[in-house]
Amino acid sequence: MKNFSIKDIYSNKVKINEKIKVYGWVRSKRDSKKGISFIDIFDGTCLLTLQAVAKSNLENYEKEIIKLTSGCSLVVTGNIIFSRRQEQKYELLIIKLKVLGLINNPDKYPISLKKHTFEYLRKFAHLRVRTKFFCAISKIRNVLFSTINNFLYKKNFTWVPTPIITGLNTEGSGAMFSVFSSNNDKAKKLSNFKNIFKNKNFLTVSGQLTLESYALALSKVYNFGPTFRSEDSNTKRHLSEFWMLEVEVAFFNLKKIVHLSKIFLKYITEHTLEKCIFEIEFLEKYFSKNIIKNLKNLINLDYVEIEYKDLIKLLNVLGKSISFGEDISLEQEKYVVNKHFCKPLIVKNFPKNLKAFYMRDNPDNVTVASMDIFLPNIGEVLGGSQREERLKILDNKLKKFNLGKDKYWWYRDLRKYGTVIHSGFGIGFERLLCYFTGIDNIRDASPFPKTLRKFYY
Ligand code: ATP
Repeated sequence: MKNFSIKDIYSNKVKINEKIKVYGWVRSKRDSKKGISFIDIFDGTCLLTLQAVAKSNLENYEKEIIKLTSGCSLVVTGNIIFSRRQEQKYELLIIKLKVLGLINNPDKYPISLKKHTFEYLRKFAHLRVRTKFFCAISKIRNVLFSTINNFLYKKNFTWVPTPIITGLNTEGSGAMFSVFSSNNDKAKKLSNFKNIFKNKNFLTVSGQLTLESYALALSKVYNFGPTFRSEDSNTKRHLSEFWMLEVEVAFFNLKKIVHLSKIFLKYITEHTLEKCIFEIEFLEKYFSKNIIKNLKNLINLDYVEIEYKDLIKLLNVLGKSISFGEDISLEQEKYVVNKHFCKPLIVKNFPKNLKAFYMRDNPDNVTVASMDIFLPNIGEVLGGSQREERLKILDNKLKKFNLGKDKYWWYRDLRKYGTVIHSGFGIGFERLLCYFTGIDNIRDASPFPKTLRKFYY
């Protein structure tokens, strides 16, 4: 007798009347007056549950089965039959049910079947994944992750895992977590950064700079991994730990990287929507409106492309006072993306003072070859630029940003030895996932969300 997952059963891998074994947990149980229990079982292999029917003649019916509550784990042996219920195709007639783990005190089970707020569930991230909502999010996250990798693999990109512990401050901002060793003497011996960085090590805010070195040898590379920001942004869009995809391409200028970003977004959206339609429809039915419409917009609509300077003019025309050189506020961004254009928006060529040191100076000497992509209701999801490949200008910028030349010696080497134009972009994975799932708060897009104020795990 074989074990089957619930996904196997609904994928028609089991024959009618076949005797099988299924492992899982109880979602809910209903006992009829006639002495039959209907147990809904989930195993997380798909969103669907399997209804298993237990009759009172089973030897442990009174002693165990009748006492099962939501969350108990079990293994059932039985025959698969067609179900009479419309909502499901199959059910299992139980021959044997073995309880694996009971719920100690069902009244205290934190995720009992009653409705819970998302805020409450965040305290129980280790258990919330047992709900259908977080099961759907996990499935979509997984498909999105592999679709992104597939796209890049097909386009002949090479994956490069860049350092997580680093002495570099890529963004030139102060929003970094320091890394200390619990055994300082040993750490001093081990640290390669000892002399250069005075033992100051951080968790990475971006792998871009090291990724650039690989782009300047392998041409098309990417990094996909955890990123840390200690900025105190208590918003629905910021986490202290999130995953970022960074793509870097040699011989690409800003125009080409904008084009690549667009085809990338369209591809991953089309494929993830197709593969996760069941989960997305479930989320749309019970939790959030218009997910599918928004995703189709990302595939089918032309993205609006606008220069930063023209966006400033437009905002003023729309009655939102802002001067050239100022950062677009969240309220202005929301207005222009959600209400004015109602489309994905690409803003290009920001003023130098708003962007990082590594972005390439434009001939106007005021702006840098940069771009941000904003999605309706999510905000900025992708940021990219052409990198400064001219050593002299890079050195001036390091000085202006107060970043010591010596720390960036190897980054400067790349400009000394066969420099070429190159460009790249970074995209926040959890923000993207919010768009695919209709999640309102990014803390529900991360399995174990970390923000400066709330840190449970
Ligand atoms: P924002 O202005 O929204 O804080 P940023 O300009 O700091 O973003 P970048 O440094 O360009 O963002 O990072 C690249 C991408 O990483 C962003 O487009 C966004 O999708 C994501 N991102 C940045 N900061 C966070 C964060 N704290 N939590 C989750 N995602 C983030």
